[in-house]
Amino acid sequence: MKKLSIIILAIIQTLIFASCKSVTTDSDKLQVYTSFYAMYDFAKQIGGDKADVYLLCPSGQEPHDFEPTAQDIAKLSQSDVFIYNGMGMEHWTDSVTASLNGDVAIVKATDKIKLNKFTAGDPHVWLNPDNAYTQLRAIAEAYKSKDPANKDYYEKNLKECKEKIERLKQDLETAKNMFSSHSIVVSHYAYSHLCDVIDVSPYAVNGTDNSGDPTPQRMAEIENYIKDNNIKYIFTEPLGTSDIMKAIAKDTGCEILVLDPFEGSSENKDYFNVMYENIAALTQALN
Ligand SMILES: [Zn+2]
Repeated sequence: MKKLSIIILAIIQTLIFASCKSVTTDSDKLQVYTSFYAMYDFAKQIGGDKADVYLLCPSGQEPHDFEPTAQDIAKLSQSDVFIYNGMGMEHWTDSVTASLNGDVAIVKATDKIKLNKFTAGDPHVWLNPDNAYTQLRAIAEAYKSKDPANKDYYEKNLKECKEKIERLKQDLETAKNMFSSHSIVVSHYAYSHLCDVIDVSPYAVNGTDNSGDPTPQRMAEIENYIKDNNIKYIFTEPLGTSDIMKAIAKDTGCEILVLDPFEGSSENKDYFNVMYENIAALTQALN
């Protein structure tokens, strides 16, 4: 973190000496920087062809331990809008946002999210479609204030997202009503918001930031939980199946399925593609 502060200070000094405040691009579109994939996808869904959206944490990379380069921060400081999730998802944003001048609209997309006793402490809020809509709306508001000439366009895109969100909620409800069991084992603590919607208990092998391996005692607890709840599938993530998850599957005879927290996806999938893949995987595991 100390290193990051020094880098930021150096960037601020460079900017002051250069007296350069304008966005150094020929594009007349909104210049938008986003911290990781979910924010990038939401920023594109609202921005359409009126925004150039940039992704800081490269697709396919784990966002929890990502840190932007000095070059990234220099570019971001000259953009129109910076969108991040907050709630500890990106540990580097406080010092970066403090260094930005007032020209960059900052969207902390969890600002208006309501938490409950099941979801407090889990930053992966977008996996509940209502929360995803709150985040999309916050992005639309920022675009409208930065680019009022295209206000109607951003509102139209938000309305289209709202319709897809409503369909997704109905389809999650339909899937939920068919589940015959209600316990899942997942690789990291990312699914409380999704599970809250579908009335499922997530048992996470790793914590919120997806780091560290469980102790042998914890491994035994996990494997007992799987046996006690007659679980036949465990969930890993698209960024890879850890040796721990493979060991658990081998010990318990479970099959491995993928549940996508939509935090570092590749293949240009959007939120709705991923949520429907998640519904299919959950349906397979819980029926
Ligand atoms: Zn995560």
